Amino acid sequence: MRLLMVEDEQRLAKMVAAGLTAEGYAVDLAHDGRTGLSMARTGDYDAIILDIMLPVMNGYQVCATLRQEGVTTPILMLTAKDGEYDEAEGLDTGADDFLTKPFSFVVLQARIRAMLRRGRTAAAPTVWRFGDLTVDPATRTCRRGGDPVDLTSKEFSVLEYLASRAGEVVSKSEILHHVWDFAYDGDVNIVEVYVSNLRRKIDTPYRRTSIATVRGAGYRLAANGG
Ligand code: CA
Repeated sequence: MRLLMVEDEQRLAKMVAAGLTAEGYAVDLAHDGRTGLSMARTGDYDAIILDIMLPVMNGYQVCATLRQEGVTTPILMLTAKDGEYDEAEGLDTGADDFLTKPFSFVVLQARIRAMLRRGRTAAAPTVWRFGDLTVDPATRTCRRGGDPVDLTSKEFSVLEYLASRAGEVVSKSEILHHVWDFAYDGDVNIVEVYVSNLRRKIDTPYRRTSIATVRGAGYRLAANGG
């Protein structure tokens, strides 16, 4: 899951981004409204955390512009103080949820999860099932034949992305782009390391092959779980 955070308080932004990254999200930061808008326009994000008071262009304007342009990415707005007025205005501009500063990281994380769940209900079930392989994005857990499989948060993120596109060939660079952040400029082959770890955990002990290598193209998660 890839998030964009638009927040000009750099210390807060970095702290939140570090926390979310530790939870397995890929997080990109923008520190002013215009940069945030141009990044959000790419549509590459699963959710956007948008502060209201921003330099150059405020959060309301960013949100309204995105909605006018047909970008439907869920948006969580950060409001100062109690903000009843803010909330009404934010809803008008098409925000999905609000969080008043100062907020606790745990609450922020819960809101993001709820927003992501709502965002994907139309497109996908809450728990993905591929034969006896299940992937639950809400709890970030995976099971094979009923056994819980212990995955690191990055491993889970790679599996989650493959699961979201089960049956399709997904390239290494697509995986890299969705799971690692924007600032990652390392080798695309790091994806191979994670796929090999996943196979060792979800396939090898069960004598299965759920993740196929498609030569020169990428990987495909078998819709039947392999
Ligand atoms: Ca601000």
